Amino acid sequence: MGAGLFGPALLTKAKQDHYQKKGGEAMAVKMTQRGAFMHGTDHMIIKEIERPTPGPGQVIVQLEYIGICGSDVHYFHSGKCGSYEVDLSQDFMLGHECAGTVVELGEGVTTLQTGDRVCLEPGITCGQCEFCKAGKYNLCPEVVFLATPPVQGCNEEYIAFPENMCFKLPDNVSTKEGALIEPLSVGFHAANQGNVGVGDSVVILGAGTIGLTTLLSCKAHGAGRIIVADIVPEKLKKAQELGATEVINSRETDALKQIASMTNGRGADVVFETAGSPVTIAQTPFVVRRGGTIVLVGIAPVEEITYNFAQIMDKEATIRSVFRYRNIFPKAVSAVASGAIDVKGLITHEFSFDQIEEAYREALNNKTDLIKAVIRVG
Ligand SMILES: [Zn+2]
Ligand SMILES: [Zn+2]
Repeated sequence: MGAGLFGPALLTKAKQDHYQKKGGEAMAVKMTQRGAFMHGTDHMIIKEIERPTPGPGQVIVQLEYIGICGSDVHYFHSGKCGSYEVDLSQDFMLGHECAGTVVELGEGVTTLQTGDRVCLEPGITCGQCEFCKAGKYNLCPEVVFLATPPVQGCNEEYIAFPENMCFKLPDNVSTKEGALIEPLSVGFHAANQGNVGVGDSVVILGAGTIGLTTLLSCKAHGAGRIIVADIVPEKLKKAQELGATEVINSRETDALKQIASMTNGRGADVVFETAGSPVTIAQTPFVVRRGGTIVLVGIAPVEEITYNFAQIMDKEATIRSVFRYRNIFPKAVSAVASGAIDVKGLITHEFSFDQIEEAYREALNNKTDLIKAVIRVG
C-alpha cells in the first residue's frame, strides 16, 4: 500500500467510518448489517445499520469472533475508562478485539484476497507525526482506536479497515484465536519493555487477561521462574495452568514477604504490574531486585498514588510503562502459529451475537472464573 494511502486522507476516511455508524432512511436501498450498541449504561441493543463499503486501501472483513476487553466492560457499566468518556446521549458501539474473513477489496488493495482470514490491529495512526516516523506509532496523538470514544468499535458483522492493519492468519490459527491477538500483543509488548530473557525471574502482579498474556509472553521469551500474585483463587489456578511456576494469593498471605522468601530476599529481575491497582503499583519497588526493571502495564487510576521512590533510587531500578503495543501483531500471530504461545486457554466464556448483552453482564459480574469472553458473530 502506498504511503499516501496511509496518510491524512485515509485517516479522514477512517474517522468518518468509525466516528459514526449510520442508520436511518438511506438504508432502504443499501445493504444492512447488525450492530450492537451501548444504549445508556448496563444496556446493549442490536440495530440494523448500514453495511460499510471499502474505501481506497481498505478491505471489508466479515467478523467471526470479537473479544470483550476490560475497557469495554468499564465503558458498558460506567460510560468511562481512564480519562475517556462515552457520550451517553447517543448509542455507542464497543469492541476492539476481532478477527474474521476478508469479503471485499477496496481500490488499490494488493496484499490481501477475499477469503483471507485476518485479525485486526485496532489503532489507525497518521503515519506522519514524529512518533509514527520513529516507529513508536502507539504514541501517535492522531490515532483512531476502535471503541475509544468518540471512535466507535467493532461489535458488528462487517467492518471496513485498512489492509495494512489486517494481519493474515495462517491455516492453523483460528479466527477465535485471532480475536485474542490484541490482548496478547499488550502482554507481548510488556515482555519486550521488560527485556525478559532466558532464565530471568519474573513477578506478575494481577492474573486478569493482561496478566495472563504477560505470563504467556514471558514464558515464550524464556523466563525461568514466573511468580504470579492475585486475590482470586480461580485466576491463580488458570495462571498455573498457563505456566506460572509459583502463585501467591495476596488476600491470604503478605505477597511482599512471600516473594522475599521465595527469592531469598533478592527480588525479581522483572516485575510486571498488570492490575492497575494503587496497592499493587505501590508494591513494585519492594519486589524488584537491585538493578532490576519494573513494567507498569495495568491502567492506573487518574488520581495520584503513593509510591516509594527511595526504594527505586537505592536499587537503581528502572521503571518502564506500556501503552497498547507497536509492531507486535505479526510476531504474536507467528508465536501462536508455531505453538510458542497457546492463547486458547484464556477463553472461558463464549456467547452468540444475540446474547451480547448477557455476555457483557457476565463479563461485568463474574469476578471469579471469567478470564476472556468472546462473541461468536453469525
Ligand atoms: Zn483489549
Ligand atoms: Zn502519527
